[in-house]
Amino acid sequence: MQLYNKLSAKEREALLEEAGEDRLTISFYQYAKIGNPELFRNHLFVAWDQMEVLGRIYVAHEGINAQLSVPAKKFNTFKAFIDDIYFLKDIRLNIAIEQDLKSFLKLKIKVRSKILADGLNDETFDVTKKGEHVDAEKFNQLISDPNTILVDMRNHYESEIGHFQGAITPDVDTFRDSLDIIEEDLKEHKEDKNLVMYCTGGIRCEKASAYYKHKGFKKVFQLEGGIIEYTRQVREKEIENKFIGKNFVFDHRRAEKISEDVIAQCHQCGKPCDTHVNCANEACHLLFIQCEECAEKMDDCCSDHCKEIHALPYEEQKALRRGKHNSNKIFKKGRSEVLKFKH
Ligand SMILES: [Zn+2]
Ligand SMILES: [Zn+2]
Repeated sequence: MQLYNKLSAKEREALLEEAGEDRLTISFYQYAKIGNPELFRNHLFVAWDQMEVLGRIYVAHEGINAQLSVPAKKFNTFKAFIDDIYFLKDIRLNIAIEQDLKSFLKLKIKVRSKILADGLNDETFDVTKKGEHVDAEKFNQLISDPNTILVDMRNHYESEIGHFQGAITPDVDTFRDSLDIIEEDLKEHKEDKNLVMYCTGGIRCEKASAYYKHKGFKKVFQLEGGIIEYTRQVREKEIENKFIGKNFVFDHRRAEKISEDVIAQCHQCGKPCDTHVNCANEACHLLFIQCEECAEKMDDCCSDHCKEIHALPYEEQKALRRGKHNSNKIFKKGRSEVLKFKH
């Protein structure tokens, strides 16, 4: 029984190009009690590997969180397989707006202690006592109500390129940080205001809404399926779109364009731009926004220092990295002194 990838990302990329088949980029999550995550993981791997599913999936005692890509012609088989798992039956699959053949190049299913790195102690509150789920139409109504406070539950580099009109976008690096900041800011309004929240695909709100109810907020709402599902409904039902800019996503595509607005700026020259890149210096890899001109001028790097290193022969770069830990900029996404136009 083969339980791990046999192909490298490069080999897979070549195969996908050769096959040229349509693939669907899908995400879903579910909180559920899973007794033996290791066994469940292997069960998924064997089945999905056969269906040529690719993606990044986390399995834990608390549930599953999956971002994946499925060959279009295998979609029905995939759906039938999911429906056979009792806690996944009829689960809503978020299907990406823009499809990319190469959104994922490997099937990675990892057993983790949690499906969402939330930094919370689960024993303190009940995750099943969550906020009221609302669809796009109800969400639009709620956010035009003056009695509503709208909060973006994502991190700074996500809301920077796109968010809902009028949303509070906390300047945070982690989900845990945003929970405290929002609670402190809104503590006067626990009873009287509607607390409406959203995130990319809904999973962060699942936890956050339960957390705020536990903290005494009375009217808590969450956008069901997040920005991904909102956009699908807006397009299908032709309702007004209140999201401006791009939706940051967690695969090779990096973002989906939701409206034509460009609300961010190049972190190097300040001109309007909302394209995230990673610094080409492998020892840096900083995530930041860079326009095409700056990319050319800087050789795809975040700073002159990185540009110098990137210009060295590969073996010399490797020698420089030896013995050093990976730069923690990889985790400090989009924050660095060298970026003049990052606010
Ligand atoms: Zn620029
Ligand atoms: Zn760099």
